[in-house]
Amino acid sequence: MSGAEEREAGGGGGGPAASSSAAPASSASPGGLGEAGGAEEPGALLGGARQHGEAGGDPDAPPKKRLRAAGAGAGGPESAAGSVKLEERLYSVLCCTVCLDLPKASVYQCTNGHLMCAGCFIHLLADARLKEEQATCPNCRCEISKSLCCRNLAVEKAVSELPSECGFCMQQFPRSLLERHQKEECQDRVTQCKYKRIGCPWQGPYHELTVHEAECTHPTKTGNELMEILDEMDQSRKKEMQLYNSIFSLLSFEKIGYTEVQFRPYRTDDFITRLYYETPRLTVLNQTWVLKARVNDSERNPNLSCKRTLSFQLILKSKINSPMECSFLLLEGPYDDVKINPVIYHFVFTNENNETDYMPLPIVDSVECNKLLAAKNINLRLFIFQIQK
Ligand SMILES: [Zn+2]
Ligand SMILES: [Zn+2]
Ligand SMILES: [Zn+2]
Ligand SMILES: [Zn+2]
Repeated sequence: MSGAEEREAGGGGGGPAASSSAAPASSASPGGLGEAGGAEEPGALLGGARQHGEAGGDPDAPPKKRLRAAGAGAGGPESAAGSVKLEERLYSVLCCTVCLDLPKASVYQCTNGHLMCAGCFIHLLADARLKEEQATCPNCRCEISKSLCCRNLAVEKAVSELPSECGFCMQQFPRSLLERHQKEECQDRVTQCKYKRIGCPWQGPYHELTVHEAECTHPTKTGNELMEILDEMDQSRKKEMQLYNSIFSLLSFEKIGYTEVQFRPYRTDDFITRLYYETPRLTVLNQTWVLKARVNDSERNPNLSCKRTLSFQLILKSKINSPMECSFLLLEGPYDDVKINPVIYHFVFTNENNETDYMPLPIVDSVECNKLLAAKNINLRLFIFQIQK
């Protein structure tokens, strides 16, 4: 589709490698927007992720470790170079001490100054509430709560100044400017023909847009041809409206529950380990649930394919007295900017049949999916609507 997807394929070997600990994915996929994983990579900034094989010795070591190793001049062939760029050193200083990612939104700190991104902070509080314990800082064990911790604006601003890579043209920009660049300025961003409104399906990089529009055949179509195209567009519009109407009618159900969910990366124990995601147990509608997700439906080598998808399943962990018929929905959460399309799923949970099949997570495209994989934890919001007869 876009130039960006071709580059994903070219990067090779970029599958995220996360471990079951809090260690971050060490080799961010090159197609990702370099939001965090890619940026922590010592090699990534030196001219594209292609170099990451050579960077910092053990490619599976967490970035923090590799950074230190490189800084100390220990081992690797790059140690001769000695110095690590300032922004790379800052990544390890400004990252969240829980997920080791660069925070995307608010940053909180414990009374001893340990930094936590909003997603991790809220999760620590929520986990503690579920276990009926006092939440503590994972670094120094001091008590944390919304009133004990404060935001650290200096860190938030510093992070927004750090360079980040455009997912289309691979150039570096301060994080704070990246969104505008990708939306409005990048010459390689994916654009659509201005005659899309009368049915032209073309999309491609911005720098090819003028040439296409000059030779686009759509403006010369006759009224009758346009009527057909408009009919088709009416149909898809109608489908969209149906979706929104069903969401609105779900909202008037008596029993609705929702919660923030954080998919965390794990590796299977297979000979060739596979990446999968799982959320901590969550309570919605007085039942305990878990969500699992996998990459490219667990195909053997997802890093060899340029198309990235995630699929997920919802599992009911508690025992129930009678079948529970539910509609459910995954949407963007409050602490992340995942682009996900609303899709309503439906399932009747019983004690014997307590997990849904794997269903595609409706992420808008592969670029967005890589961005999620690079960021390690995936924060979404789950809604469950119980259907009562
Ligand atoms: Zn975090
Ligand atoms: Zn602390
Ligand atoms: Zn760009
Ligand atoms: Zn066109």
